[in-house]
Amino acid sequence: MNRQTFARWIVARTGRAALTLSACLLAVARVRAGEIELTLQTRDPSTGKAILATEKVDPKRVGVIAVDVWNWHWCKTATMRVDAIVPRLNQALAGARELGMTVMLCPSDVVDNYVGYPQREAVFALPKFAVPSLLEVTCPPVPDAGGCACGRERCAVSYGWDGMHPALHMDDADWMPDTQAEVYAVCRKFGLTHLIYVGFHTQVCLLGKSMGLKAMKSAGFRCVLARDMTDAHPGYDPARNFTPDLNTEQVVEHFEKYLAPTISFQQELAKLGKWDAARVVDPVRIAPWGTSMRPHLFEEPISVTLTTPLQPGSEIHYTLDGSTPTAVSPLYTKPLVVSDTTRLRASAFSGGRAVCLESEGFFARLAATPAMPDRFIGDLPPARSVGFGHSYGGVVRYSGNTQPPQKDKSNLGQELRINRQSYQHGIGVHAPCELMYELKPEYQRFVGLAGADENLIRISNGSNLAKYPSVVFKVFIDGKPAAASPVMCIQSLAWRFDVPIPEGAKLIGLVAMDAGDGSREDFADWANAGFVLKR
Ligand SMILES: [Zn+2]
Repeated sequence: MNRQTFARWIVARTGRAALTLSACLLAVARVRAGEIELTLQTRDPSTGKAILATEKVDPKRVGVIAVDVWNWHWCKTATMRVDAIVPRLNQALAGARELGMTVMLCPSDVVDNYVGYPQREAVFALPKFAVPSLLEVTCPPVPDAGGCACGRERCAVSYGWDGMHPALHMDDADWMPDTQAEVYAVCRKFGLTHLIYVGFHTQVCLLGKSMGLKAMKSAGFRCVLARDMTDAHPGYDPARNFTPDLNTEQVVEHFEKYLAPTISFQQELAKLGKWDAARVVDPVRIAPWGTSMRPHLFEEPISVTLTTPLQPGSEIHYTLDGSTPTAVSPLYTKPLVVSDTTRLRASAFSGGRAVCLESEGFFARLAATPAMPDRFIGDLPPARSVGFGHSYGGVVRYSGNTQPPQKDKSNLGQELRINRQSYQHGIGVHAPCELMYELKPEYQRFVGLAGADENLIRISNGSNLAKYPSVVFKVFIDGKPAAASPVMCIQSLAWRFDVPIPEGAKLIGLVAMDAGDGSREDFADWANAGFVLKR
């Protein structure tokens, strides 16, 4: 059956599918002729009205640049929003490679962690050229929402990322240039004329980085932003319905008005039969997006927003009892008020079919700040003290860069510090660690604060390290669990313990545990911890 007969046969079978399929066949025919046709969107700078135009290009002349698809961000919600886009990014990059486009993965700041990767090493062997400055690229100030999309409980800045998102697929034929000159060298090698930008965060890195859109546009390349594969430096203010998606929309419009046309990468690939529409790639987005490994801690009730910007018209269903969300779970209609520790699960459906991957949100409410103790644990002799190391004959040889528990100091001898606050009293440990104390009849309650020690932020703002600390604190009384924290990360609000001591109890164990992802940098502080006496 030749192509025309096949198309006619399809037309005879089904109307709608036939249109799609014949459109695909025509598009594929165009690829064979060496060109594809992009639908570019710009906006009138004064009215904001969208303007569509088409442009033909040989895909072999097109580079795709993935900017800063990092494995971590100081804002937990920003981190999860990158995580949410990686599956569609993988599908798009796979399609781009099949079309013969050159894929460049550019994790600025951390590219030197990729020495030895052929994708990086090959860049150094390319001929070097002076980059022409052909165009002055300017625009009015870009809207910037600040970078944290967690609402009232704002994340503090650190530089914790140390690589690309672990799920981002890297192909043997990809390249890892880092600077304008390196991207230029790759472009010269393949004769590239067009660059499609994907990645994060739109107005900061795509604009400001040396291999970013602005720099390459000034060097004379036709630069295009994939509006469905990017996320702006986010913000979230539920009181005025300002969501991270709205922020991205505004930033994309700014690009369309002043900087570059955009495409829907998904639609472009779908036109060419390179996007599997049946494959579900996007999770429901959550703001603020705490997870069990990086909880959103709060004191006052929070407003949680769920969105599916790439599945317009779909219905979001959610559960709050830990069960799997289905098409008959409660329907999301407006931001949810969360006032207690909650695990949210959400998915989106269209015609009863799941059109989104399931998402998890985890929010943990802090108890009231406990009283100061009458007896600090640092002033009491522990009945048992064990930690991260190698036990031999009942003695712990502490591992490498860790110390035995330290009184009134962090484990490495600095001040005790949790979430931007210093404490005079407490014990600095490295998880896993247990301190056990004998309970006296006059002890009424155990009180204290606990959190990941923040001193590593003082080393180059936590460069490459801030993603690592993750500690769970537990209190045991006579071997039975009495209280526990959720996973505590760098710059989490301190967890608050206020544990009644049962009459006749003999031993209390204070544990700092690894959260299940390895104990690297798991420095942990018990602050203002001790016993309140009976009056
Ligand atoms: Zn945040």
